[in-house]
Amino acid sequence: MQNLRDLDKEALLAQMEAFGQPAYRAGQIFKWVQKTGAACFAEMTDIPKILRAQLAGRFTLSAPQLLRRQIARDGTRKYLWGFSDGNCVESVLMRYTHGYTICISTQVGCRMGCVFCASTIGSKIRDLTPGEILEQIIFTAKDAGVQISNLVLMGTGEPLDNYENVVQFLRLVHDRDGQDIGLRHISLSTCGLCDRIRELAALNLQITLSVSLHAPNDMLRNQIMPVNRRWPIRELMAACSDYIAQTNRRISYEYALIRGFNDSIDCARELTALLQGTLAHVNLIRLNPITESPLKPSTPQATQAFCDYLNMHGVTTTVRRRLGFDIDASCGQLRRKYQQNKEEGADR
Ligand code: SAH
Repeated sequence: MQNLRDLDKEALLAQMEAFGQPAYRAGQIFKWVQKTGAACFAEMTDIPKILRAQLAGRFTLSAPQLLRRQIARDGTRKYLWGFSDGNCVESVLMRYTHGYTICISTQVGCRMGCVFCASTIGSKIRDLTPGEILEQIIFTAKDAGVQISNLVLMGTGEPLDNYENVVQFLRLVHDRDGQDIGLRHISLSTCGLCDRIRELAALNLQITLSVSLHAPNDMLRNQIMPVNRRWPIRELMAACSDYIAQTNRRISYEYALIRGFNDSIDCARELTALLQGTLAHVNLIRLNPITESPLKPSTPQATQAFCDYLNMHGVTTTVRRRLGFDIDASCGQLRRKYQQNKEEGADR
């Protein structure tokens, strides 16, 4: 059965017609499911029992189980959510001066195989549905008692490898009667699936596209990102330039600085040549070490020098703050720690 939370207003409207119910019920149900975050049909108190029974006969209404909540010294919270089939994903809630940002997952695991990232260990198990992607926002906001204003699709999974569901999710999450998060407050990060970048461009959404670049040439990028063999840098840059032409939006490039690998001034020079004159912003991330990999973060000095070089040569660059490091909630540290966490249960 389909999850009621996967449905947009149009689909709900069609369903009401099929049930022989008045159209305004679609709006009511949409609010219960998408905004209030009803966890079961019984919560929908202003929906007649007969309609609730019709819904229950045709749909499920999933609500993830809170398996674990960790709170970092800087206030960042990491949640482990369990779905009814036993799979689980992590989401991270971060507090900035301008409000709360949530980082959500789009797949259980990931099949992209980047060597520095914990999310890809064990490959992909399955895609999340649009409703499951949404539930991370709804139930995190409820648990923390906060309003979430910004969204980054930078948790576990490759969003563009779950393209249809992610696009449907974007439609749902920015609906005024739902979570009402503006597209300009949403960043979607990809390791560079060029065909999908072009499809996304054609939708002309006002989201921010982040591209995980991490190396200025194919020789280096091939060593850390298998996706580069399918979509090398020249093709990636062509897709990015099409994206900009179509949407007029600046692209954000993520570059994790790995000690002695991609952090030299020569690399900064190559990166400058690649991006100079394009609508770009570079986000430098000091590599977050994971136990399975020998790669180390660049020193703070090398990070600063790399950042200064790019800025001095006309490529706008910032260094990303590292939030939630002590609870493994930083970039690349999210993983499917299923067994271990399930046994520990939710804690504070
Ligand atoms: N699959 C998407 C979404 C993941 S976003 C993508 O690749 O963009 C998470 C970001 O953190 C990506 O830029 C990813 O490359 C980066 N990342 C992964 N592991 C990291 C690590 N160990 N240290 C720093 N950044 C890392």
